[in-house]
This record gives sequence, structure tokens and C-alpha cells, in this order.
Amino acid sequence: MIDTLDRRHLAECEILFQKGDAGDSAFLIETGGVEILDPDSGQVLARVGQGELVGEIALIDRNPRTATARALEASVVIEVRRDVMEQLLVNTDPIIRHLLNVVLRRFRNNMEPTLLSQPDRLKLPDLAADPLQQTAAQKIAQLQDLSFAVKANQFVLHYQPIHLLEDGRLAGFEALVRWRHPVLGLVPPLSFLPLAEESGLIREIGLWVLQRASEDWKTLRTLTSTPHPFISVNVSAVQLRDGLFADAAMEIQKAAGIAANELKIELTETSLIQNQLIAQYQLQLLTEFGNSIALDDFGTGFSGMENLQNYRFHTLKLDQQFIRNILNSSLSFQIVLSTLNMIRALHIDSVGEGIETPEIARVLQELGCTYGQGYLFGKPMPLDALLIKD
Ligand code: C2E
Ligand code: CA
Ligand code: CA
Repeated sequence: MIDTLDRRHLAECEILFQKGDAGDSAFLIETGGVEILDPDSGQVLARVGQGELVGEIALIDRNPRTATARALEASVVIEVRRDVMEQLLVNTDPIIRHLLNVVLRRFRNNMEPTLLSQPDRLKLPDLAADPLQQTAAQKIAQLQDLSFAVKANQFVLHYQPIHLLEDGRLAGFEALVRWRHPVLGLVPPLSFLPLAEESGLIREIGLWVLQRASEDWKTLRTLTSTPHPFISVNVSAVQLRDGLFADAAMEIQKAAGIAANELKIELTETSLIQNQLIAQYQLQLLTEFGNSIALDDFGTGFSGMENLQNYRFHTLKLDQQFIRNILNSSLSFQIVLSTLNMIRALHIDSVGEGIETPEIARVLQELGCTYGQGYLFGKPMPLDALLIKD
């Protein structure tokens, strides 16, 4: 990137731009300093130095320069073009973009009070009509709502049964989080987890999930009927980025009194690739502690095989998109068949996800898949509903 930077070397007193010039870029001062002046009165309006920006108003509007900028000494500036900034900002968080517009606009109004009385000269974007403002406001509201939900403990866990395919016995459960929203009702995880991950709130939510599931396990375990029952908990990429995650997870399990070898941590392919070194260490700690690790949604990311080389997994979960089609697509069937052959060679367990019919369960069992999960066996349900059902 450095090579493509547009650098300008200014001699002392050299003019960078003049009042009235077209403004389509700002300048970042790399070394030296620049003064901004009103050329009519000769009054110095500001002096800016290394690391600061000059002419930044050009980044939000298309008005001519309203002052002159002149080098105080021999200086180097880097040009920041408006078209490039606009391109970059397209991909930026709407909240950040909106804040930037508001701040620059306020700055411009303070700098140039005379312009306020000449609205035709002040061609600023109309913030009120800008859809960006609404997107930003909406996102801020959602974030505040979600952060309140964490404090007010508005989350609940539903548990979905996982059965041994060979004889149908109940082997364990996967814990799946829901948000019990006071107005919207029960909100599914995919509607709020992306924002929770982006904002970091997932760390707190994730630890709560682990704690609730570990505490509920005592009761859930009584419903199972295999020698090695387990409870599965999903852990997101953001949680694995935290070097203290494993410690916190172990403390929670000890406090809840859950046997470490009965807790399975489910991770997706992308979560591992994004944080390879930290994730590897965190997972090593948890494996040594006794937890087992499952690779979730296998086949949907780009790095399933790479992950299999780098981590020690105990379970591989075949994604529902392959399972759903094994009876009517020979391609899906072949993918599932060869994945199960590989899993057998690795001596690890497999879970077929999204099983909705007895035919699919039977085919998977014949192909050697260890466990099955899906609406055929049961939808995710709250703990008390599972107890009544039993
Ligand atoms: P997942 O881990 O792949 O969980 C399985 C999802 O498939 C669940 O959706 C479940 O309700 C759904 N499912 C199970 N069986 C069937 C079936 O037979 N047919 C169909 N059509 N769907 C089935 P849910 O509960 O909406 O969760 C969606 C995703 O949200 C989960 O996918 C998981 O990635 C994430 N998630 C849920 N809870 C947590 C959590 O506590 N922490 C984190 N980090 N992620 C979570
Ligand atoms: Ca999962
Ligand atoms: Ca899954």
C-alpha cells in the first residue's frame, strides 16, 4: 500500500492549496507542519503538525477550498482522495460512517459560521434524508437492546436430543440459545448472534450459555441412556480469540460440578481458521481438562481438511445441507459416504444433523454414522418441556 501513496514534498512556505481551489482530497501530514490561513485578511486560522489532516472537509462535500494551506517548513504530505475514501467507507460500519459525517459537518459549521447564512453555498449532504442515518440509528438501538438483554438475562436455552443411530438410545443434547425479547418474543440465534459477535457481547452470552448448560446437565443427564452421555455447547470464533476463554470455561464447569468428559465444545471451520494460534492453545487446554471438541457444520466452510490436520477433534458433525439430500442426490450421498469413511479411518465419532425422516436415519446408520440429530428425534426444547415429555 505504501508504494501507492501519493506523497508531496513541500518546501517552506510552499502553498498546498488556495482558497477557491476545487477540493477533492485531504492531506495527511507525514513530516513537518502546515498553516491554514485566510488569504484576504492574512489571519492564521490553525497550525497543524505531523499525523494531522489538512483540508479534510473535502472528504464530505464538493465545495471549493475555503482557506489557503501553506507549509510552515519543509514538509511531506500524503494525499487522501475523496473518491478512494468514499469507496472505503462503503464497506465500513454504518455507525462509524454516520458519526464521521456528523463530526465533520459540525467541524465545518464551527469553522465557517459565515457559510451558515448562505445555505446555497453549503452543499452538505442532507443527514436527515440519508438512509445511512436510519441504518446507523437502527443498529445502535439493536446493540443497546442486546446489551440490555445481557444485563437483564433475557436468554434461554433450548436442548435438542442427539441419539445413537445403531439402537436409537438418547445419548445427549445440544444447547441452542434463544433471546426471549420482551416485545418480539422468542428470537432465533441467527437473528442476533452476528451482532453479538461483531460487538463482542457474545463473550458474555457464550459464558452464560456454558454455565446454564453445565448446570442443567445434572437434570438432562437423567434422561439419557448410553454409557457415555454428553452435552454439546456452541462456541463462536470471537470467544476463541480471547486468551482467557479456556480458564473461564474450566472455572464454570468446576463450579457447576459437570464431569469434564461429558462436555463437548462445538466449533465451526471458520472460527478455527480465523484465530489459529490462540484457538489451538485454548482447545489444547480444554482437551487436557477432559472436554471433547466437535467440528460443526463440516463441509460448509473452506478449511475442514486443514482443521482436521491442526486440531484433535473427537466428533465431526455433518451439515444438514448434505444430509437432507442423500436420498435424492447421488452427489450428496457420495459426499456423506466418503466423509463417513474418512471419519471411521480417523477413529472419531460422527453426528448427522438435520435428520427429519426414518429413511435418512436408516441410511446414515448403514453408512456407519454414530449419532443422529434432527426433528425426527426431537426439536430443540426448554428443559421443563423435555422433562414433561419424558
Ligand atoms: P447449529 O449449531 O448447526 O445448530 C443446529 C441448527 O439446526 C439449530 O438451529 C436447530 O434448531 C436446527 N435443526 C436441528 N434439527 C433440524 C432439522 O431436522 N431440520 C431443520 N430444518 N433444522 C434443524 P438454531 O437453534 O436456529 O441455531 C442456529 C445456529 O445458531 C446454530 O447452528 C449455531 O451455529 C448457532 N447457535 C445456537 N446457539 C448458540 C450458542 O449458544 N452459541 C453460539 N456461538 N452459537 C449458537
Ligand atoms: Ca452446533
Ligand atoms: Ca451444525
